Amino acid sequence: MGAEESKTEYQKLEEKLTYSSKNIWEEEGKERVKKVFAYGENYKDFLNNAKSERLTVKWVLGKAKEKGYKNLYDTSEMGPDDSTPDDLGPGDCFYALNRGKNIALVKIGEEAIEDGINIVAAHADAPRLDLKQNPLIEDIEIALLKTHYYGGVKKYQWLNIPLAITGVVITKDNKKVEIEIGFKDSDPVFVIPDLLPHLAQKVQSEKKAKEFIQGESLNLVAGNIPVKDKKVKEKVKLAVLEKLNKDYGILEEDFISAELEAVPAARPRDVGIDRSMIGGYGHDDRVCVFAAVTSIFDSKPAKKTTIAFIVDKEEIGSDGPTGAKSQFIFTLVGAILKKLKKKTGEYSDMLLRETMGRSVCISADVSAALNPMYKEVHDEKNASRLSHGVVLTKYTGAGGKYAANDADAELVGMIRYIFNKNGIYWQYGGMGKVDEGGGGTIAKHLAFYNTSVIDCGVPVIGMHSPYELISKADLYYAYLAYKVFFEKA
Ligand code: MN
Ligand code: MN
Repeated sequence: MGAEESKTEYQKLEEKLTYSSKNIWEEEGKERVKKVFAYGENYKDFLNNAKSERLTVKWVLGKAKEKGYKNLYDTSEMGPDDSTPDDLGPGDCFYALNRGKNIALVKIGEEAIEDGINIVAAHADAPRLDLKQNPLIEDIEIALLKTHYYGGVKKYQWLNIPLAITGVVITKDNKKVEIEIGFKDSDPVFVIPDLLPHLAQKVQSEKKAKEFIQGESLNLVAGNIPVKDKKVKEKVKLAVLEKLNKDYGILEEDFISAELEAVPAARPRDVGIDRSMIGGYGHDDRVCVFAAVTSIFDSKPAKKTTIAFIVDKEEIGSDGPTGAKSQFIFTLVGAILKKLKKKTGEYSDMLLRETMGRSVCISADVSAALNPMYKEVHDEKNASRLSHGVVLTKYTGAGGKYAANDADAELVGMIRYIFNKNGIYWQYGGMGKVDEGGGGTIAKHLAFYNTSVIDCGVPVIGMHSPYELISKADLYYAYLAYKVFFEKA
């Protein structure tokens, strides 16, 4: 008797009527698993290069150019690129770049663009420690770089780990200098030293976790050799400045016009005896950036025009010209529409607004997966698990869904329908128990244009830590899910 025949009537009914997500590894065969692992290798390679929002966008731009994407719009040139041909047609691929920190990849579809665009939007920024604008000090003959943390961090996680510095400095001659220290094995790194346990009794151990590390004490150790001159007051600081000047031609005042960030120096690596997971810095949200970008690259020309949209500043509220609250996407769609309608002269502000209103967007951001050590913060029936596929989230927010983009049931239904029809492993997952805390994504900022938006991304354990954890199976199914959305939605 086969397994199916041995099932009782109610067992069969249970299978038919009840919902449960599946573990991908349990379901999938050897060939698929091979692809999952191969995609994981490519992702680790990307993540190792994408240590900041600027480096992430740089990687995306480089790959887009390699794939033949043309320049449609670049804010560094302050306007649409006139070298782009006016007769855009189905299958044409373009990129639009905004200040090196925000990029869109566009593939023109077969249908009229005003019927709506399919957008997958992810963010390239991740929590980190930004150097202050006047960062360099000396204390007890140790040179320190002062920081101001960026995004939601648990401060204690950033102590005693190797940190690298990456970013740009604009010099007094208005030239841009790129700085990267700590990624190569031969590079030095930076460390914020914690207090030894022997002496931490009063200063730390009796305090709340939120309070025992002060924001003002997140200083990177940056040098200890003084210049040999008794007449100089801060000898170690001067020696550090001398070295920076020699290597990069910068002065102390140049820090004021700099964006330098301290990020974990550790490489992404396989986690677990079975190598099923990847540990690394910045999965939130570079994992969705990678899935969005590679899926638009690999997607067949579709009915709808498709956009992979990579934004900055999500971790601090999406404000600023490179964040999701900026009108860059609105202007970009306007620029595309204008080119497509040049011959007929149909372009209008109203048509642009209607195009946005008929568009559908996947807000591709990570979700908090169940951590076996801290299950109590989740409602297990409404939480995601590692290796159960891409996570659909109807709403985020906090304290009674406040500040959430609550995706319409109709939209959730449509996405669920196309995922099921195309063999995508997906699961439902919300943020946590009611009143446990909360958070948001860029979903609501794209919904501002009357675009239908749903959150759908990769489950992560240890989110916002210097070494977050994802499953390779979920990563691969995020890629397939976005590809299906681009091609079939
Ligand atoms: Mn995120
Ligand atoms: Mn985040």
